[in-house]
Amino acid sequence: MDTTSNHGHLSSLEQLRHDFPTITADSDIYLDSVASSLTPMPVVDAMTEYYTRYRANIHRGTYDLSMRASERYEDAVAAVARFINASPSEIAFTQNTTHAINIIAHTLDFTPGDEIVLTSIEHTSNMAPWVSLASAKGLELKWYNAGRDGIVDAEELAALIGPRTKLVTMTALSNVLGTVTPIEAVGKACRANGTMFMVDAAQAAPHVPLDVRRIDCDFLAFSGHKMLGPTGIGVLYIREALALEMMPGMLGGGTLDTAKCDCPSLEECSLDYCSYSELPDKWQPGTPPIAEAFGLHAAIRYIEEVGMDVIERHDRALTSRFMRSLEQIPGIDIYGPSNPEQRMAVVSFNVGDIDPNEIGRILNERYHIAVRTGQHCAVNYFNDVAGHPGSSGNVRASFYLYNTEDEVDAAASAISEISAKLI
Ligand code: PLP
Repeated sequence: MDTTSNHGHLSSLEQLRHDFPTITADSDIYLDSVASSLTPMPVVDAMTEYYTRYRANIHRGTYDLSMRASERYEDAVAAVARFINASPSEIAFTQNTTHAINIIAHTLDFTPGDEIVLTSIEHTSNMAPWVSLASAKGLELKWYNAGRDGIVDAEELAALIGPRTKLVTMTALSNVLGTVTPIEAVGKACRANGTMFMVDAAQAAPHVPLDVRRIDCDFLAFSGHKMLGPTGIGVLYIREALALEMMPGMLGGGTLDTAKCDCPSLEECSLDYCSYSELPDKWQPGTPPIAEAFGLHAAIRYIEEVGMDVIERHDRALTSRFMRSLEQIPGIDIYGPSNPEQRMAVVSFNVGDIDPNEIGRILNERYHIAVRTGQHCAVNYFNDVAGHPGSSGNVRASFYLYNTEDEVDAAASAISEISAKLI
């Protein structure tokens, strides 16, 4: 990685790796960033700073410590908003992407017969909430089948949108195949049809620039822990017009402007007498993840200092290098498109009939390489591709800004050796 055009202290990949405390001279090779990325010290330091210098609740106290913590928290909200070209009023913190998607599923007002369009490559987190809602409320799910390669054609998907389609919800980057989906084109189609559009950006946020205005989506969700940030914090973007108009599904401290709650008596207490808080607090019930917001802010700063363009190029180059090496292995079956331009950061595969879990076990025990095996929470994809339920999935390697060409080559060579012994 050449980061020289950006910041001095990140002037080489070697330098950058020093920022990650779990990367040491004898640490395992970490190829599971799609599940959770590693965390650089500036993120850990930012959270420690909160606990050691700002430890108080925010927006509650009129004393200095709370006000200083609130200011730094607001800086974090502003940084997250800038990161996706939203306004701070459109950002609510959640626990993670799954939580953000569930908030929208439990908040939108559907009537029986309404339709939701989603794709065959969705993660369980962007499938289960809608499947459950559909059966509870009599909705119809319309599935776009992205096939074995997991490529979404915007026009074909748009053809599924009809007068009863209330929502299209789709991942921006497949966690199994690394395919990048045409979210801007789908966003346009949704807007033209008056259909709401939700983007699951859990995998896109760490690797590609996101601009909610260009995508023209109504909702977008991602997780801190996949993009160098802490666990326990996710982001939910809600387009302002909707954020104002919708009734939040979860209420509590912070969501109501209690100064304006005029219940005439205990017995007559009703939310009809109350007003919601200003955005985004209306969407933020209870104490938010404050330390995690400090950490996420530091993660975004880190990504911006390296440069998202640099990260994207690096991740694509490693993906392509790994695929080119794997292609030489007899019996290899790589999932997803062979053109590296159509994918990034993720390569998943099987080797002959070898159980993917066995490959993962050997990579871990003998080669000290961490990969993920199984269905990667993409049960519909695997069942459809296998033609029956219960597929054992595949092996998945994923790359991020700290991975090196040497690590990629070591993984490819280990897989080649395993294949030679077991096939
Ligand atoms: N969506 C996609 C595409 C994912 O890959 C994941 C996690 O791997 C999720 C949603 C869920 O993310 P989280 O576990 O952070 O809620």
